Amino acid sequence: MKIAAVRTHVLDHPLDQVFESASMYFDRRQHCLVEIVCDDGTTGWGECLGPALPNAAVVKAYEKWLLGRDPLETEKIWLELYNALRDQGQRGLTVTALSGIDIALWDIKGKRFGVPVSILLGGRWRDSVKAYATGSFRKEGVDRVADIAAEVAGYRKEGFHAAKIKIGFNVEEDLAVIAAVREAIGDDMRLMIDANHGYDVLEAVELGNRAADYGIDWFEEPVLPEQIGSYHAVRAGQPIPVAGGETWHGRYAMREPLETRAVDIIQPDICGTGGFTEMRKVADLAAIHGVRLVPHVWGTAVQIAASLQFMAALPPNPPRRDPIEPILEFDRTHNPFRQAVVTEPIEHENGVVVIPDRPGLGIEINRDALAEYALK
Ligand SMILES: [Mg+2]
Repeated sequence: MKIAAVRTHVLDHPLDQVFESASMYFDRRQHCLVEIVCDDGTTGWGECLGPALPNAAVVKAYEKWLLGRDPLETEKIWLELYNALRDQGQRGLTVTALSGIDIALWDIKGKRFGVPVSILLGGRWRDSVKAYATGSFRKEGVDRVADIAAEVAGYRKEGFHAAKIKIGFNVEEDLAVIAAVREAIGDDMRLMIDANHGYDVLEAVELGNRAADYGIDWFEEPVLPEQIGSYHAVRAGQPIPVAGGETWHGRYAMREPLETRAVDIIQPDICGTGGFTEMRKVADLAAIHGVRLVPHVWGTAVQIAASLQFMAALPPNPPRRDPIEPILEFDRTHNPFRQAVVTEPIEHENGVVVIPDRPGLGIEINRDALAEYALK
């Protein structure tokens, strides 16, 4: 079995309703899928976190080291590709592109042995996970406080046990949003806040102290991800557990935040931190240091399927009869190709998502949708 072709699919859809986080402006949805084809016809799929066209270009740059290789050699291939661009690419697009490749190789490996990736990773601890709703971005020309309160109340009606809202724009306005959301959803739904590193330390500490009474599960990316010391200051200065990690790629970027406990909850993204091969190492590091792991998920059904396979195999930490279960980040923003790319959409039912148990990632790609949403 040899790798015969490496392809990328850049999917694109313009948005009628523009939305934004504190760090990103979305006027279209774009994601990059990776397709790796073997000489026996076996095909694996992966996805890269982040800007689609640059990711596709880096995947293309890796192609020459992939053609003719045995796709089952995931550990060797990962290290060789990482080494190939290591000197200028220890994090960022070099690792997000490598993530999409690695996920596709594990999909092939699962199909080769007729088992889901979660079995290859050592076994399934669970067959379903609770999902939490991610949305609540700022929209142009809309009363943000009323809009987000209504949106999150809708997630509660759909059966979600938890939701995460976007802050990081302005402390006073963000607090008004948090108060309105808590009022709209009642006391028994979990609520998380994500500043997308929009604050400095003083703002984050103020927001955290004033938001704590609203029952917040975690305060995500309060400050810039390069400033590990600032994470410590936010943790020390306010009472809400601090989360982060979606931009820390690979084990080396994860090491300092985990070793020094800069976060209470680490959020690696399987499509960004290095695919299954590296995600296992990050999970082990988190477990060694006693930091809770909740994956970051932002992409199509390919990314959701990969995250679910990883979550199925994530050991309980600590192990006990009724352990803490990982929860799935479930993006609710407008993206018509998110589920269209697979023949059987991965949807929630009453806030719970079943983990596919077919070989590889457990999904079938809908090529008609790839053609329909291909970047023109
Ligand atoms: Mg986030």
